[in-house]
Amino acid sequence: MIVANRKPLEEILEMIRPYKKILLLGCNECVTVCAAGGQREVGVLASELRLSRAKDGNEIEIREHTLERQCDHEYIDQIRPFVGDYEIVLSMACGAGVQYVAETCRSKLVVPAVDTTFLGVTMEQGVWSERCQGCGNCILDKTGGICPIARCAKSLLNGPCGGSSGGKCEIDKEVDCGWQLIIDRLQELGQMDRYEEIIPVKDWTTARDGGPRKRMREDLRL
Ligand code: SF4
Ligand code: SF4
Repeated sequence: MIVANRKPLEEILEMIRPYKKILLLGCNECVTVCAAGGQREVGVLASELRLSRAKDGNEIEIREHTLERQCDHEYIDQIRPFVGDYEIVLSMACGAGVQYVAETCRSKLVVPAVDTTFLGVTMEQGVWSERCQGCGNCILDKTGGICPIARCAKSLLNGPCGGSSGGKCEIDKEVDCGWQLIIDRLQELGQMDRYEEIIPVKDWTTARDGGPRKRMREDLRL
């Protein structure tokens, strides 16, 4: 899932400072799971904003609404009947959701209330950890199912570097060395021969550096 964090209240207040009618839009998917922008967080943020603005003698009207997804136009269409009643949309979705709402409701200013951070997993309640950077050419088959791009601090395709010590990364003694994890896993799997293979330099032109990526499945298109 996509993991995000809510922005600090002061930053959000600054973004909406000139406006009095706000549509506060949550998303029921990833940002709900990571407790950054679901229905509950919409309620909490709306209360904080109302209180802060009332304290400043500058009251606002906020409509709280949570969509099933903000990255899908069929759900965004649900706000069309009333989005025009508001001066600004404050979106609690990931960056993709914020942008798609802005593209779909072109006459509205849409601003983010969360910082989108990474593709990750839920380790335990309240703890999320990065696993993938969406590189567009997955090499997990070569690395025992552990991603060196997301889990090595230098995103080395062949490692570890000279800074690995006692299984920890040189950037922080609390952080596991991604390449040590890969070696340990390949040993467990009896696949250390894979470690001998040099992973070639990635062709980043097929990944992010080729511009915004698009995926199309002709068999699913209408
Ligand atoms: S190699 Fe890593 S970053 Fe690339 S798709 Fe696979 S898990 Fe994601
Ligand atoms: S110590 Fe390990 S995780 Fe850290 S940069 Fe070097 S190889 Fe990558």
